[in-house]
Amino acid sequence: MNFNRLTDNTDPRVLFIDMNSFFASCEQQVNYYLRGRPVAVCVYTGPQGCVIAPSREAKDRGVKLGVRLDEAIKTCPDLIPLETNPARYREFHQKIIGVLKRFSDDVLPRSIDEAVVDLRRFRYVYKTDADVLRVARDIKQAIRDDVGDYLKCSIGIAPNVFLAKLGTEIGKRDGLVIITPDTIDGVLAKLRLTDLPGIGRNMAIRLENAGIRTPLELRHADPTHVRAACQSIVGWHWHLRLNFGGEVDMATTHYRSMQAMRSISREQRRSVGTLRDILTALCLTLERRMVKQDVFAQLLWVNIRYDDGPRWGEEMKLNLPMQDGGRLRDLVLNRMEAFRRRHLCGPLLNGQVTQLCVGVTRFVPAEAVQYTLFEDYTREDKLRKTVYTIKDRFGPDKLVRAYQLADSPVWHDVIGFGNIKDLHPEERVFGIGSQSEPSAMDAFDAMDE
Ligand SMILES: [Mg+2]
Repeated sequence: MNFNRLTDNTDPRVLFIDMNSFFASCEQQVNYYLRGRPVAVCVYTGPQGCVIAPSREAKDRGVKLGVRLDEAIKTCPDLIPLETNPARYREFHQKIIGVLKRFSDDVLPRSIDEAVVDLRRFRYVYKTDADVLRVARDIKQAIRDDVGDYLKCSIGIAPNVFLAKLGTEIGKRDGLVIITPDTIDGVLAKLRLTDLPGIGRNMAIRLENAGIRTPLELRHADPTHVRAACQSIVGWHWHLRLNFGGEVDMATTHYRSMQAMRSISREQRRSVGTLRDILTALCLTLERRMVKQDVFAQLLWVNIRYDDGPRWGEEMKLNLPMQDGGRLRDLVLNRMEAFRRRHLCGPLLNGQVTQLCVGVTRFVPAEAVQYTLFEDYTREDKLRKTVYTIKDRFGPDKLVRAYQLADSPVWHDVIGFGNIKDLHPEERVFGIGSQSEPSAMDAFDAMDE
């Protein structure tokens, strides 16, 4: 079912909720000592660990998202580094979604710390802009009362999801911003093209080349011109978003691609065994998502970044649509070995690896997968499905594969942040921006901002 619609709608009845410094706030919520102090949630707490979520106090002291921990401590010597606690953030996420559902049946989780509360079907209940502003204030209060008093959020209100999200970008930190047809030009006038969520550098360059240099010019440009500039339907979507022409950001987007990525710490890259374990973990992450979505992939890719040089990557067409994580991993390892032989170089998994990424795409529904006459995997596929049903019921660590029994710390954090789409498998989850590329959320699973 597609929830997009192209009927004009200028009443601001969509609320976008963005939790502020979410991961760090969750930590400060459960640990009173951390409140009011600069906290940095990191993937690893070694000096090379990457800060994925500074608390608001840390941000005030100049600690930026994505910096290395040793650099962050130079900037802010009393910074308190904490290792991520994905299960905790998922739990808070679920509680927050529960609170939001008291305000509307149409609640759409968008990432671990973002959700949309759509009031468009309740236009006779919330008649005026003042009614909707009151709902927003009530939501903030309810999150503080019923989830955690240290949790703050920004709320944007607008006639469509995109502009509501933009409202949260403008009103950081407990903000509350409403964008209406009367105020939109004033809002856009202060922004650059790349301030619009979904417009990256490349898109901005395309638009600039077509003479569209600002968000305001984008809004008032001829839609055919914008479409030509973007070289796709995306241009038409930009016209609709900025002109209240309907909703284009609420389609039920099934996975177009999935990717699993890990940054590799200096300690991890010392051991080839650990790197192989991480690769396996990433392939199993893809497997888990594919099983949940009941799809098989026809294309697999791998990308490795190195400390000292260019990256290595390859794409592999899968003659037989695939879902099994172990098989995906074997394919990747074989491909690496073939490359090494062909180019007479050292192994690709070596002490210089800084990032591993694998992805799958070109999905086919499980029921459409036709096996060859010679290889019957049907029983194996059934088994895989059953294994995940058991994991769902009794916990992810109750059933593991033989190769997961190796005593490696990698397995403890395989689950990572999980993907928001997996947390709400029954629900509509959607993203904003270019639909053809894997979203940033898929790439990192969850970056907190
Ligand atoms: Mg946030």
